[in-house]
Amino acid sequence: MSDNERIERDFNARDEDEKKAFLEETWCDQCQEVNLGMVEPVEYELNEIIFIEGKCKKCGSIILTELTDDEF
Ligand SMILES: [Zn+2]
Repeated sequence: MSDNERIERDFNARDEDEKKAFLEETWCDQCQEVNLGMVEPVEYELNEIIFIEGKCKKCGSIILTELTDDEF
Protein backbone atom coordinates (compact mmCIF):
# COMPACT_ATOMS: atom_id res chain seq x y z
CA MET A 1 0.00 0.00 0.00
CA SER A 2 1.38 3.37 -0.94
CA ASP A 3 1.96 6.03 1.72
CA ASN A 4 -0.04 8.56 -0.15
CA GLU A 5 -3.12 6.52 -0.79
CA ARG A 6 -6.26 8.45 -0.07
CA ILE A 7 -9.04 6.24 1.28
CA GLU A 8 -12.52 7.64 0.86
CA ARG A 9 -14.74 7.59 3.93
CA ASP A 10 -18.43 8.33 4.29
CA PHE A 11 -18.96 11.63 6.04
CA ASN A 12 -22.71 11.09 5.90
CA ALA A 13 -22.38 7.96 8.02
CA ARG A 14 -21.55 10.14 11.04
CA ASP A 15 -24.36 11.04 13.34
CA GLU A 16 -26.30 14.25 12.86
CA ASP A 17 -24.85 16.11 15.83
CA GLU A 18 -21.33 15.30 14.74
CA LYS A 19 -21.96 16.38 11.17
CA LYS A 20 -23.55 19.60 12.35
CA ALA A 21 -20.55 20.35 14.55
CA PHE A 22 -18.09 19.71 11.74
CA LEU A 23 -20.05 21.89 9.35
CA GLU A 24 -20.56 24.75 11.75
CA GLU A 25 -17.45 24.81 13.92
CA THR A 26 -14.88 25.81 11.37
CA TRP A 27 -11.77 27.91 11.06
CA CYS A 28 -11.13 29.58 7.73
CA ASP A 29 -7.53 30.58 6.99
CA GLN A 30 -8.64 32.98 4.28
CA CYS A 31 -11.30 34.79 6.29
CA GLN A 32 -9.36 34.41 9.56
CA GLU A 33 -12.66 33.77 11.27
CA VAL A 34 -14.21 30.93 13.24
CA ASN A 35 -17.56 29.26 12.70
CA LEU A 36 -18.38 30.63 9.27
CA GLY A 37 -19.52 27.16 8.33
CA MET A 38 -18.59 24.97 5.40
CA VAL A 39 -20.32 23.14 2.57
CA GLU A 40 -19.62 20.08 0.39
CA PRO A 41 -17.91 18.00 3.08
CA VAL A 42 -15.72 15.10 2.00
CA GLU A 43 -14.09 12.70 4.41
CA TYR A 44 -11.00 10.63 3.73
CA GLU A 45 -8.06 8.95 5.34
CA LEU A 46 -4.49 9.63 4.33
CA ASN A 47 -1.39 8.25 6.02
CA GLU A 48 -3.58 6.98 8.87
CA ILE A 49 -4.98 10.43 9.57
CA ILE A 50 -8.65 11.23 9.02
CA PHE A 51 -9.42 14.46 7.22
CA ILE A 52 -12.67 16.25 6.66
CA GLU A 53 -12.49 18.71 3.83
CA GLY A 54 -15.09 21.26 2.84
CA LYS A 55 -15.49 24.73 1.42
CA CYS A 56 -15.90 27.91 3.44
CA LYS A 57 -19.47 29.20 3.19
CA LYS A 58 -18.24 32.75 2.94
CA CYS A 59 -15.25 32.68 0.58
CA GLY A 60 -15.33 29.17 -0.90
CA SER A 61 -11.76 28.23 -0.02
CA ILE A 62 -10.91 24.76 1.21
CA ILE A 63 -11.20 24.09 4.90
CA LEU A 64 -9.30 21.04 6.05
CA THR A 65 -9.95 19.50 9.44
CA GLU A 66 -7.53 16.89 10.70
CA LEU A 67 -8.89 14.44 13.23
CA THR A 68 -6.58 13.18 15.91
CA ASP A 69 -7.04 9.77 17.48
CA ASP A 70 -9.10 10.92 20.43
CA GLU A 71 -11.70 12.54 18.20
CA PHE A 72 -12.84 9.33 16.56
ZN1 LIG B 1 -13.47 31.80 4.22
